[in-house]
Amino acid sequence: MTQISISQALQKSHSLIGKSTSPKLDVQLLLAEVIQQSNSYLYTWPERVLTEEQLQRFTALLQRRIEGEPIAYLLGYQDFWTLRLQVSEDTLIPRPDTELLVEQALRLLEDGDSRVADLGTGTGAVALSLASERPHWKVWACDYVPAAAQLAEANRVQHQLENVQIVTGSWFEPLSGEFALIVSNPPYIEAEDEHLSCGDLRFEPRSALVSGSDGLMDVKHIISHAPQYLQLHGWLLLEHGYNQGVAVRQLFEDRGFKQVQTVQDLGANDRVTVGQWCRVANSGSKHVNG
Ligand code: GLN
Repeated sequence: MTQISISQALQKSHSLIGKSTSPKLDVQLLLAEVIQQSNSYLYTWPERVLTEEQLQRFTALLQRRIEGEPIAYLLGYQDFWTLRLQVSEDTLIPRPDTELLVEQALRLLEDGDSRVADLGTGTGAVALSLASERPHWKVWACDYVPAAAQLAEANRVQHQLENVQIVTGSWFEPLSGEFALIVSNPPYIEAEDEHLSCGDLRFEPRSALVSGSDGLMDVKHIISHAPQYLQLHGWLLLEHGYNQGVAVRQLFEDRGFKQVQTVQDLGANDRVTVGQWCRVANSGSKHVNG
């Protein structure tokens, strides 16, 4: 029987060189998961020997990582904002960039009895983060993929967030009434974008990534219909691609939004655009197309 210690297992990170941008961290995370201990344990007890079962599991996970499977799918979770969220192949893995959407939403509205909607919630990352920071908001989180809505619900239960309701349906379909804030991280990648064949994106559902040939099909739909669901002075806040800032601002303005602004992410890329709806009783919203 082969026996290896924790420190020998950590050496296996060399097999991920060129296959992952963080080989050491990936191996630490997989090993910590397999032995059900923290990362610091690995360095406190480097001589501890893995059981045969642990070694088998570690070897299998490492092999899947070598083949490119995202670390979050192998671990079954991803940390986002202050929450550890379950992930699955039914939806996008929450990205650090999307924390900007949460940050900006929190900046727009204080705590209070506001109604807030998150469209295309996936794991629930944005909706649950907002609900955890604003306990008096009432948050509706929609996803049209039933398995994603179930995952978001499992994450909601896990974090005991009673102020979120998970609903299934396409974009605005399951919503009624008016909202003070609508947020979304919709699919926004162009169908032919070469990044789709790189890294984690290869394993994520296309429906959560791609939005027509220009990447803007869903963004257009949301901007076009949002006014019907926004209260006077309500906000629409969208994540989009680094090269879509100009186009998205134009779409907001053409639809009649005011105070249209784009915020950049930590990499100094246009990432999130916001606009305010300032017309009374959503006049004209039924007749305008995106
Ligand atoms: N930001 C993601 C990426 O480029 C895409 C997420 C999305 O389409 N909403 O990997």
